[in-house]
Amino acid sequence: MNRTRARSRAVKRVLVWVILFAMPVRSSLARHTTRSASSGQLGENAQVRAALAWFAPNVNWINEQQVRLTEIPAPAFQEGQRAAAVKTLLSGVGLNVQNDSTGNVIGELRGVNEKEIVVLSAHLDTVFPAGTDVKVRREGSRMLAPGISDNGTGLAALAAIARAIHEAQIKPQRTILFVADVGEEGEGNLRGMRALVDAYRSRLKAVVVLDGAGTDHVTTIALASRRLEVIISGPGGHSWSDFGMPNPINALVRGSVRFINTKVPASPRTTFNLGQIEGGTSINSIPYEARLKVDVRSESESELTRLESALRECMSAGVRDEMESSRDRSRGKLEWKVELLGSRPGGELAAESPLLAALRAADVIVENESRIERSSTDANIPLSLGIDAISIGAGGNGGGAHSLQEWYDPTGREMGLKRALLTLLGIADAPEKTR
Ligand SMILES: [Zn+2]
Repeated sequence: MNRTRARSRAVKRVLVWVILFAMPVRSSLARHTTRSASSGQLGENAQVRAALAWFAPNVNWINEQQVRLTEIPAPAFQEGQRAAAVKTLLSGVGLNVQNDSTGNVIGELRGVNEKEIVVLSAHLDTVFPAGTDVKVRREGSRMLAPGISDNGTGLAALAAIARAIHEAQIKPQRTILFVADVGEEGEGNLRGMRALVDAYRSRLKAVVVLDGAGTDHVTTIALASRRLEVIISGPGGHSWSDFGMPNPINALVRGSVRFINTKVPASPRTTFNLGQIEGGTSINSIPYEARLKVDVRSESESELTRLESALRECMSAGVRDEMESSRDRSRGKLEWKVELLGSRPGGELAAESPLLAALRAADVIVENESRIERSSTDANIPLSLGIDAISIGAGGNGGGAHSLQEWYDPTGREMGLKRALLTLLGIADAPEKTR
């Protein structure tokens, strides 16, 4: 991306202004946008410059915090110990820090206007179960450990940005909440973000989510998903003497074969995955239970509903087929149900939103390019409620997320930190004049 940087930077500056002039100037939001997105002003503010300059000489401190936090296990529903460490970090930079009842850590930097809030968040939890070895190893510039990047990077950035703003003595217009939240991964079902948005909803103007490494994308479209579990149960019996009784695994297989033949559209992109299947107790027993976990995702909420209905119809038919083909229906029948394990609602940030303008303006200053991405993140919750939100990486490079080989390379992470800080201050409306 270095090759035509100067030229592309100039092009981008022109684009920013074209976008700004093309916007309606009707509402107070538009006024705010114009101010947020005037990247020159923000980047030239002396206090903001001081905050930006804090990162480079303190990269070692940031890396150390990342290692320390990553080495505190934080499986879903067991984030408490890591939360306590983040609380100490945020308290150390002058924030008023609280825990809410779900376990979120919330550090408040009071703005001039306390009635308007912007959130910078990073999730605390990992996908790794208790007992996973989370000791960080180093290989050259790389750090390796489960969770080092997702979301060690986001948490370290949260602490670093809070500290940079503190050191530069910035008092924003809007109140900023620095939040380390619980329950982002898997069956946490975004419970931390749900509680946060619920608590601050009327005052919440924007949410910036830091998740993982990189600076290449900005997630503005929330991918809707549902997680479902099919449970089929029956009387069970002996494989030889009770042969012919209805078998829950047979019914599940019959239903599953029907379901996987369901047609899904390429656009809006819609997917399903039969991810976990279990049931039965031994090879020579007719099982009394069979279970299947299914993940369905779509760019369209209505496709999601259609697919969930298809799953129910297919399982109902699978059970019926099994009952009809069983020789001995007198000794019990099959019961079935589909339970919703989790649901992530969809939503989309408006192209002309002040938050996206702030991100674009930050990109201009740090000479970065972001592609718009659609994904399932903490930003789903505010986006689904019409609250502006984005999810971005917090800089550096990472890979192998959700695997034991996960790694993070902090080389060049300052750019991601600056981008996040400028976006946050852009939307929080940092003071325009040096005080
Ligand atoms: Zn994550």
